[in-house]
Amino acid sequence: MSSSALPPRPILVRLPNWLGDLIQALPVVSAAAGNPSRRAILVGPAGFGPLLTPRFPSAEFIPWSRARRFAAAGALRRARPGTALLLTDSLSSAILAAVALIPERIGYAAELRGALLTRRVPRSGPSRTGPRVEEYAALGRAAGLLVGAAVPRLTALPEELRTAGELLQGVGLAGASYAVLAPGASYGPAKRWNPERFAAVATHLATRFGLTSILVGTQEDVAAAAETERMAGGFVRNLTRATNLSALTGLLGGARLVVSNDSGVMHLGAALGRPTVAVFGSTSPVWSAADAPWVRNLYAAYPCSPCFRRTCPIGYGCLRSIGPEQAIQAADELLAADP
Ligand code: SF4
Repeated sequence: MSSSALPPRPILVRLPNWLGDLIQALPVVSAAAGNPSRRAILVGPAGFGPLLTPRFPSAEFIPWSRARRFAAAGALRRARPGTALLLTDSLSSAILAAVALIPERIGYAAELRGALLTRRVPRSGPSRTGPRVEEYAALGRAAGLLVGAAVPRLTALPEELRTAGELLQGVGLAGASYAVLAPGASYGPAKRWNPERFAAVATHLATRFGLTSILVGTQEDVAAAAETERMAGGFVRNLTRATNLSALTGLLGGARLVVSNDSGVMHLGAALGRPTVAVFGSTSPVWSAADAPWVRNLYAAYPCSPCFRRTCPIGYGCLRSIGPEQAIQAADELLAADP
């Protein structure tokens, strides 16, 4: 066989580390993993596996963890990717691609890693001033991927809906209509709306629409969910920590409404096409909002916002400025438009 007949070497896609970022990068992941003429290798947090593996069966998924940042280097060397597309801005992701001997390394110059990249993609403007979905799409296109309309979309799979149905049955909600509320945010308190306000929304959804609210989140969200549950009483069921990504996708896919901070749940709910109310604190909807007619973004445009801090030195005015009545009005509008 002549060398010109050899299949192209695989493309490695280093996935973002946060769920919300992964969802915003889905058009790029789809373009890479859906290319029948070039195999894709996806490298990212192990928790992403249940979401990605069934949707991109022809791609190889290699789990990554902060604790063992370079553990995948040997497996990558053996897989011999020709290109590494780095969707993270981290120095360590560029080092991993270099030590795995991947000849082409594409990404944004950041964290002093420019010398490790073979192609530094110029940003169209300062970081965080345009849609993040577009930032990812520009990287994908620089790697030769056919990233079309950069709109993240997902459909819940039957297995995900079945798992969610079992969870709902376990809390007495089999076959019932429900909302999903995500009062946490792993990023930090500058993204967390007050649990009292989530509880006010849950109370409204129950009394006006007969919707019970399911609380979801990870270990870091336990306190915010417990506080919401304490104030909303029987109007909520607390499934915090009870869902992996597969079950969460099923729960969101069947929800009448999603109310969330600017977090992975917000992006996943929006990508699944569910009516979504999103609350922004220190971050910017210009950068990270889910752009869809079924999404309402609540943002106070506080004078110091966006600051992108995880904690606030001056009292979280950006979040305090958003009252429960705003979320309730947005929820009412969305539910009226999605009968
Ligand atoms: S500094 Fe301003 S924008 Fe940042 S978290 Fe505090 S109130 Fe919000």
